[in-house]
Amino acid sequence: MKTSFDKNLSTEISEIFSSLQGEGPYLGVKQIFVRFGRCNMHCGYCDELERMKEGAFTVYPLEKLLGEVDGLELERGPHQAVSLTGGEPLFYTKFLKNFLPKLKEKGFTTYLETNGTLPKELAQVIKWCDIIAMDMKPASSTGDRPFEKEHEAFLKTAIQKDVFVKVVVTPETKVDQMQRIVQIVKNINPKIPFIFQPLSDPLGISVQSLKLIEQEFFSLAKEFLHDVRVIPQMHKIWGVR
Ligand code: SF4
Repeated sequence: MKTSFDKNLSTEISEIFSSLQGEGPYLGVKQIFVRFGRCNMHCGYCDELERMKEGAFTVYPLEKLLGEVDGLELERGPHQAVSLTGGEPLFYTKFLKNFLPKLKEKGFTTYLETNGTLPKELAQVIKWCDIIAMDMKPASSTGDRPFEKEHEAFLKTAIQKDVFVKVVVTPETKVDQMQRIVQIVKNINPKIPFIFQPLSDPLGISVQSLKLIEQEFFSLAKEFLHDVRVIPQMHKIWGVR
C-alpha cells in the first residue's frame, strides 16, 4: 500500500487500548498498548497477518496519538508502562524518534515489544526505551528466514536496558535452531531472562509445543542460562485483548 504522510510526525496505528500484559515476566501488569500497523516479518502464527494484509490501520499524527495515550491514562490508569507493540514498532523508527521523547517527558515508562530483527533501528531509539521485550525467532517456528545474525546484534545493543528474550515454540521448532539461539544469549549474558512461549491454539495452549519445551528445550536452555521460564500467552486464556 502507498503511504503519503510525513513519517517523522505521523504513523500507522491499528489500535490503542488499556489492558493487562499477557506475556513474559511482566505478566499481569496494566499497560497502555499502542499497536503499530506493519511488520518486516511474516510469521505463520501471527495474529496480525490478516490486518496487515488488509492494511487495516489508521494514520495518526503525533499529537493525536499522545492525546489518546493521555486520555487512557486519565480514564483507566495508572498504567505500569506504555507498550509499543505491533506489527513491529521499530519499522517506524522515524516516528519513534519524536514520539518516545514525548512519552518520557510525560513520565511514562516505555516497554518495547519487538521481533528483535532491526538492530540499527533499535540503536536510534534505545535511549528512550526502558524495557525491551525481545523475541528471538527460529525459522522453523515462523516459516520466515533465519534472523540469528540480526538477533545477536540486536541483543548486544538491548543489553544496556531491562531486556528479556522470548521464543515462541511451535510443534515444528527445531532443536539445532534453539541451540543456536541459546548460545547467542549465553555469549552476551547468561543472566538475561529467557522465556519459552508455547504456541497458542483455539483450546488455549498447543500441548505439542508445551511437551517439546518440557521434554527438550527447557533443559537445553537451563544448561547455559540462569533464568529460564515457560509463560504462555495469558491474555488469550483470560479473554482480554
Ligand atoms: S514479528 Fe510479530 S507482528 Fe511481525 S509477523 Fe511475526 S508475529 Fe506478526
